[in-house]
Amino acid sequence: MEKKKILVTGGAGYIGSHTVVELHEAGYEPVIIDNFSNSKESALDGITAITGQQFRCYRVDCTNAAAMREVFEQEPGLEGVIHFAAYKAVGESVEKPLEYYHNNVGSLVALLQVMREFNVTNLVFSSSCTVYGIPENLPVTEQTPVQKANSPYGNTKKICEEILSDVAQSASTLRSIALRYFNPIGAHPSAKIGELPLGVPNNLVPFITQTAAGIREQLTIFGEDYDTADGTCVRDYVHVVDLAKAHVTAVERLLEAKGDKIEFFNVGTGSGNTVLEAVQAFERATGVKVNYKVGPRRAGDVPKIYADVTKATEVLGFRTNSTLEEAMKSAWDWQLSLQDSVTNV
Ligand code: UDP
Repeated sequence: MEKKKILVTGGAGYIGSHTVVELHEAGYEPVIIDNFSNSKESALDGITAITGQQFRCYRVDCTNAAAMREVFEQEPGLEGVIHFAAYKAVGESVEKPLEYYHNNVGSLVALLQVMREFNVTNLVFSSSCTVYGIPENLPVTEQTPVQKANSPYGNTKKICEEILSDVAQSASTLRSIALRYFNPIGAHPSAKIGELPLGVPNNLVPFITQTAAGIREQLTIFGEDYDTADGTCVRDYVHVVDLAKAHVTAVERLLEAKGDKIEFFNVGTGSGNTVLEAVQAFERATGVKVNYKVGPRRAGDVPKIYADVTKATEVLGFRTNSTLEEAMKSAWDWQLSLQDSVTNV
């Protein structure tokens, strides 16, 4: 039987590359679009090392509708699209709001227009728990009110969800699922793909692994005076492979035309850990100590957030397959596999 073809924008990125692998494992044919603005072609080599396949990859900027159109022309019979391609650094978005609106919102609009032209009707969209702002009640369910975003990045996710809702209200045949990610961490068990921050990492886990590896001097924990068990922020750290699998089941749901024209799902583990607990889990999992200090709070941080994943569990069959320690160990294995590479520094 011919494999169903799924277009993956940002397929060379962190979550994208893991999802390409899981799509392949599930019997789909992924086709990648990436402009490599925040990823490296080495991710494609990692995908090939894992799958034994070289998937077609188009070096295209998703805001460029004409270039996207050419990809759709060259790839007839696309059954669906998973749209990862976006900028994702909260702090940078405050500095460069126009770039964020142009890239994140512009790429979705261009993609939707081209999908409409080619009658491709299934879309999985990368959203974020950032749409919940600072939630009043925990854990957050999909009914928790969406709030004003506290960064331009967060606002792009909120706006993109609104665009998808508006399209769903119209006569459009588009079906979409927005996955609201909590904190993806870890790497493929093969250590052939993983998170590849360019420059100084913004996110906690790559900063931990680079500090443990001696690439960074010291991790700064941003604030220990929050109203949490040990005073550091609480997050829901989900293994990237589990998250990648959620995309595959979301695609399946769309292809079966189940559910409403637009649906939202939280994808986390359902439990929260403090930053200190995350550091300790890393140390336990690897036996490597992390040099850290406590610094001031980081502007814009939400004190505490974790997911209620009942909906994803029941509807998408979502499961968490690894512990925080296992996720940390996989991140460390990936870091070690990069050790010879100067490009990561
Ligand atoms: N964090 C930290 N030091 C760092 C990076 C992150 O203490 O160098 C904390 C951050 O304040 C937050 C948590 O780690 O509480 C997760 O941050 P990250 O940037 O990874 O994800 P976010 O939750 O902001 O999307």
